[in-house]
Amino acid sequence: MHMVAIGGSDAGISAALRAREVDPGAEVTVVVADAYPNFSICGIPYHVSGEVPHWRNLAHRTIEDLEAAGMRLRLDTTARGIDTAGHKLLVTGPDGAEDLIAYDQLVIGTGAVPARPPIAGLATLGPGDGAHLLHSMGDTFSLMSTLTETSPASAIIVGAGYIGLEMADALTTRGLAVTQIEQLPEVLPTVDPQLGALVHAELAARGVEILAGTAVNSVGKAEPGAPGRLRVEAVTSAGEPVTRHADLVLVVAGVRPDTSLAVTAGAALGAKGAIAVDRRMRTGLPDVHAAGDCVVTWHRLLGETYLPLGTTAHKQGRVAGENACGGNREFAGSLGTQVVKIFDQAAARTGLRDHEAAAAGFDPVTIGSEADDHKAYYPGSHRIHMRFTGDRATGRLLGVQLFGHKNAEIAKRVDIAATAIYHGMTVDAISDLDLSYTPPLGSPWDAIHAGAQAWTRQAHAAG
Ligand SMILES: Cc1cc2nc3c(=O)[nH]c(=O)nc-3n(C[C@H](O)[C@H](O)[C@H](O)COP(=O)(O)OP(=O)(O)OC[C@H]3O[C@@H](n4cnc5c(N)ncnc54)[C@H](O)[C@@H]3O)c2cc1C
Repeated sequence: MHMVAIGGSDAGISAALRAREVDPGAEVTVVVADAYPNFSICGIPYHVSGEVPHWRNLAHRTIEDLEAAGMRLRLDTTARGIDTAGHKLLVTGPDGAEDLIAYDQLVIGTGAVPARPPIAGLATLGPGDGAHLLHSMGDTFSLMSTLTETSPASAIIVGAGYIGLEMADALTTRGLAVTQIEQLPEVLPTVDPQLGALVHAELAARGVEILAGTAVNSVGKAEPGAPGRLRVEAVTSAGEPVTRHADLVLVVAGVRPDTSLAVTAGAALGAKGAIAVDRRMRTGLPDVHAAGDCVVTWHRLLGETYLPLGTTAHKQGRVAGENACGGNREFAGSLGTQVVKIFDQAAARTGLRDHEAAAAGFDPVTIGSEADDHKAYYPGSHRIHMRFTGDRATGRLLGVQLFGHKNAEIAKRVDIAATAIYHGMTVDAISDLDLSYTPPLGSPWDAIHAGAQAWTRQAHAAG
């Protein structure tokens, strides 16, 4: 059995590792367009900040580790076409020569590409001008060249989603003056504005200029004598024009699934134009599975959606690899659980926000509350800001959002909520969870208990 995975990031490598685990006799080849298989692109901001000094440290595994796990790597090799009837993959190798790779099973893990918002002038600028996108190791090397070779004093980040925020943190840590422009009314639009405002305050306290509710229209080379190489024109939601100059512009405005190879082979598309797959990660094409940022995501509360995350790509890749070897595993579904560090603070969410739950047919109530991460008499305690969303009629927990200090176990507390939602718990039942306690690390009623109790007390009174 020869399994070929296209893509050497979270999905492709997870599929390859799992295939070798379940069928140690399987021949496994991974075709990777660049020379950086199994690199943690999630770690890029921490290399840019200088906290991870060498880019090689971002490798989850070395090439030698991957080969020792039993996979053959075809690096700098781009898949160009899939002959599904003949079970052959057409590739172009590092020297430009074409080759056909015969497969029994194929896993597509081509991932996503950065979205290019309709900003006039963006297409005519490139890394040499100080204009950057960020997704791959290649993008990282370009950005690092600009940083080390031109020593920019200032940066404009277009987009204040989680990657934009991580990059605001990273570039500020490097000493650049950062302006962050977000067209939606508040930063980190994936959480409620009440928590977005707390993220905003942390950014502002660190000297990041935030222009929320402001859409960038154009970017171009600055006029001589301007305070920066590039000029960005934007407009506020009130119609006021805004101009900013900077030496570096970083556009991080989301991603779109990279589906061209699959589409040409005849694969169907689903939510947000991602490759349609069932929960066994089957594409519908014979012997072709797909996983990761290029496919639709099964959400446990919403059904089919598109929710590109590294955690999901790992799980889907593992399912695809197992099933390619004759397994029958289903992807259990995402809850969109995610966390982001912004300087010394962290924001996290799992499940649904109020409007998302309402759109999905629930009768949601969202209650905000606060609690300490551990007993306040023990030094170093921090407040945790919480928003619990539950269904009024059934009491079922639907979503939790948290904000607090990065040492306040925000990530692991949201994971308690993710586990509870996964198992269909009611908000009230969270109070019964036997969570750990010692004063320096927690409270007899953990913050998660307290947030659930606040919801139970107030939900029926809430309109
Ligand atoms: C800066 C940054 C920070 C992030 N932080 C987080 C985080 O903290 N938590 C989280 O959960 N997620 C995070 N993500 C998202 C996460 O990295 C992605 O969801 C994940 O990498 C998706 O994995 P993938 O394998 O599906 O695709 P990708 O990582 O996009 O990889 C696609 C692979 O396919 C290869 N490829 C594409 N086309 C071809 C072709 N035709 N032939 C051969 N090879 C091809 C590419 O070279 C690459 O190896 C972050 C992303 C970025 C950019």
